[in-house]
Amino acid sequence: MPRLSEVLASLDTLWPPERAEQWDAVGTVCGDPDASVTRVLFAVDPVQDIVEEAVKLGAELIVTHHPLYLRGTTTVAASTFKGRVVHTLIRHDIALHVAHTNADSADPGVSDALAGALDLRIVRPLVPDPTDPAGRRGLGRVCELDRPATLRDFAARVAHRLPATAQGIRIAGDPDALVRTVAVSGGSGDSLFDQVRAAGVDVFLTADLRHHPVSEATHHSPLGLVDAAHWATEWPWCEQAAAQLDEISDRNGWDLRVHVSKTVTDPWSAHLSSGAPN
Ligand SMILES: [Zn+2]
Repeated sequence: MPRLSEVLASLDTLWPPERAEQWDAVGTVCGDPDASVTRVLFAVDPVQDIVEEAVKLGAELIVTHHPLYLRGTTTVAASTFKGRVVHTLIRHDIALHVAHTNADSADPGVSDALAGALDLRIVRPLVPDPTDPAGRRGLGRVCELDRPATLRDFAARVAHRLPATAQGIRIAGDPDALVRTVAVSGGSGDSLFDQVRAAGVDVFLTADLRHHPVSEATHHSPLGLVDAAHWATEWPWCEQAAAQLDEISDRNGWDLRVHVSKTVTDPWSAHLSSGAPN
């Protein structure tokens, strides 16, 4: 069985930490490089529910998309939300490793997994990484549908294929408009409207869209928007990443057990449609 340092070195080949954004906090949060690894759990969020799932599974390594401490900290006291996570991890000899914006921009990356879950044909990155001469890496993906569909039917596909959340799926724009081309970006995508407009796509699928950018983007514009729960748009990456590590494990004869958490860590717990009919 491999040591943690060997598993982490292989993860760094998939998502090189130097490709993370400057502001990001990726890499290993805790863990002993010499410890043995037999089970790995992939999840979106490094929250207590996920750590407890790893304890039950007997996993020695959790790989999450979101960082635990993005902005640093002066305390890991167990009385704090994140400190409790750290305590539980260390008490159970579980390592935590983060692949965030380095996984967003990878090939394949977070948005490839999202496009794959929806059976979209990927054309190119929405925001190409200028350091990639092949033009395959970057943020978001511009995609085509196998056949044109209405915005409503495309959103129904998103609702059906992504894991269930309380938020569900929101649409902006004419639900009956025909959709052929789609920009997708897993996670918060409302900083990408300029690139979406420049790509000339029919619809943009992302998460965390806010009132003003949506209002501006759809005003006098045929662009349709599909807003899913942040967690749901990034969860397909966990399955993609687990398959990548499985393949590495087979190649190296490691015999790792690789798991994907199905725990919904999207923080919204219920959704009511407002404006009850009279
Ligand atoms: Zn995210």
